Amino acid sequence: MTRIGQGVDVHPIEAGRPCWMAGLLWPDDDGCAGHSDGDVASHALCDALLSAAGLGDLGAVFGTGDPRWSGAHGAELLAEVRRRVETAGFGVGNAVVQIIGNRPRIGIRRDEAQQVLSAAVGGPVSVSGTTSDGLGLTGRGEGVAAIATALLLPR
Ligand code: MG
Repeated sequence: MTRIGQGVDVHPIEAGRPCWMAGLLWPDDDGCAGHSDGDVASHALCDALLSAAGLGDLGAVFGTGDPRWSGAHGAELLAEVRRRVETAGFGVGNAVVQIIGNRPRIGIRRDEAQQVLSAAVGGPVSVSGTTSDGLGLTGRGEGVAAIATALLLPR
């Protein structure tokens, strides 16, 4: 049966931290703090895939108490999620992730991000970006948020 899932993530921006977003390193931007690399787009995608497959959530699979995943990159987390999703009998039909924040400017590297994330999950991933027009934690530049939806198909 076709299954849909969604995921949301938010992390605070930390000055001077490398910015990993949507599977890419953005050298001109400050990154997000977190147990892993702070890539909210990858994390939201992981949660969308896990929820679609009925496999729980990111915290259950990659607990912050587990040193194996400390500093792990989004693409590595997605590869592990993909392995579990495929073991559960599903493949990715498609997935989308929207990044909400002032920086990085997603549009300038959209194709690259889509290629990296699509390769990681084994299906087409669309990446978009938006701002919150100066409002809230994303508008003040305190953090970055992401929301993702995934459609799984039986293999
Ligand atoms: Mg996260």
